[in-house]
Amino acid sequence: MRTLVTGGAGFLGSHLCDALIDRGDHVVCLDDLSSGRVANVSHLLDCERFTFVEADARWEITLEGKFDAVAHLASPASPPDYLERPPESLTAGSHATLSALNFAHANNARFMLASTSEVYGDPLVHLQPETYWGNVNPIGPRSVYDEAKRFAEAMTTSYGAARGVNVGIIRIFNTYGPRMRADDGRVITNFIVQALRGAPLTLYGNGQQTRSFCYVADLIRGIVGMLDCSEPGPINLGNPEELSMKELAELVIHITGSTSEITHCPLPADDPTRRKPVIEQAAQRLGWAPSVPIEIGIKQTIEWFQHPAEMNAAPTGNRDGRESGRRHRGALVQEPHVPGFGQLYAPWRSGTISAHWGRANTDRRRFPRGGGDTAAGAA
Ligand code: UDP
Repeated sequence: MRTLVTGGAGFLGSHLCDALIDRGDHVVCLDDLSSGRVANVSHLLDCERFTFVEADARWEITLEGKFDAVAHLASPASPPDYLERPPESLTAGSHATLSALNFAHANNARFMLASTSEVYGDPLVHLQPETYWGNVNPIGPRSVYDEAKRFAEAMTTSYGAARGVNVGIIRIFNTYGPRMRADDGRVITNFIVQALRGAPLTLYGNGQQTRSFCYVADLIRGIVGMLDCSEPGPINLGNPEELSMKELAELVIHITGSTSEITHCPLPADDPTRRKPVIEQAAQRLGWAPSVPIEIGIKQTIEWFQHPAEMNAAPTGNRDGRESGRRHRGALVQEPHVPGFGQLYAPWRSGTISAHWGRANTDRRRFPRGGGDTAAGAA
């Protein structure tokens, strides 16, 4: 089995690469390192069945040899990441999905889209089954991610129906674990990093909003199951163990034994009030269920963040100096190649949009990151 993993150097992508390599597959990991890190896959670079390609999935994907499957994960995924570069977030969902679908079509390969619980927006239905159509503000700040993923689902479905591609969609609910970036701004990383530093935990709003957190090892089992079958989905993948953000803050303080206090910050616009998946489809169609309780998963994640390199990790991607695969043995750099897509990709070729990389459009006061920015955000 030979699989292309787009976004393969990211948090989830790198764990997926591990799982596929572990079972003997050949893997090409494609990532532009805008939010992923070579460090996440550096332990795989010596494996002859693994190739890292530094490339932007929004360009036409040209890779030699035949592929059996495409796992399409390339996208910013944390709220601060996708709010920082709105047009790029939208084109990650649109152009990159089109490009990955065309690649799967050309290879007659299974295509799996990593979609998100964000397609449900701020849900009016609780719990969320796959049949729920969602409650999304199409011009709200989160729309750059939510609508991009909704478009990606529509595009994926159309390639299944109109082009006969073997497509599958998973909707990933909040997932956590080792290799999350200390600066990704998500609640788990913020709370853990803040607790380990003895800094106040930044609880947004009254903290009664809920999420259901899935440990990464559980999620990856589900993704592999979806890659290996021909189910079209969409299928929710997440852990239905629901807790409020206040409960999460208290849990992190308890497990770390931190002296940190909780400080309240403004609730971001359109922040979903409740989120909890119905996972019957995953059980019936994939034989999947999560098994790692939040206490165990949080402990594992804390241990990983206690590693000095992680606590001090500089922001990655294009913000403070782009991490480059060029420095790493076994890594290839793919230059953009766009025959047949001149019109669609013209803005990229002119550099109009790439010129925006690195500009911070986000109101960081509302989306503080773990570490230094967080303290400023709490003010
Ligand atoms: N949140 C928080 N403090 C933080 C970061 C996030 O209270 O430092 C809240 C946020 O408002 C949301 C929840 O935690 O209600 C989950 O946020 P996250 O960014 O992790 O993911 P989301 O599910 O919103 O995409």
